[in-house]
Amino acid sequence: MTERLIKNTAQVSDVVYCDFCGGDMKPEKVTMRYFRKGGAHLFRNVEAEVCQKCGEKYYHAHTLADLDRKIKLQSERAFSSPVAAKPA
Ligand SMILES: [Zn+2]
Repeated sequence: MTERLIKNTAQVSDVVYCDFCGGDMKPEKVTMRYFRKGGAHLFRNVEAEVCQKCGEKYYHAHTLADLDRKIKLQSERAFSSPVAAKPA
């Protein structure tokens, strides 16, 4: 929760210009590598605001919440498979 990504999303609804370079933001569908506990997840066609000057991407909080939900579903499925028991 302390990633820069998360911090940026808190501001995204107010952001019209890039925080980093002042460039124009434009909504685009991007391929996103999302780092969470348990590894990196790759998502395609993710809604983002993209700086037209430096390429910095900003994600909406609702977009990240949606991705978190998908990751959670995935990991729940993974956890339901049997795990090797630790030797006593
Ligand atoms: Zn920028």
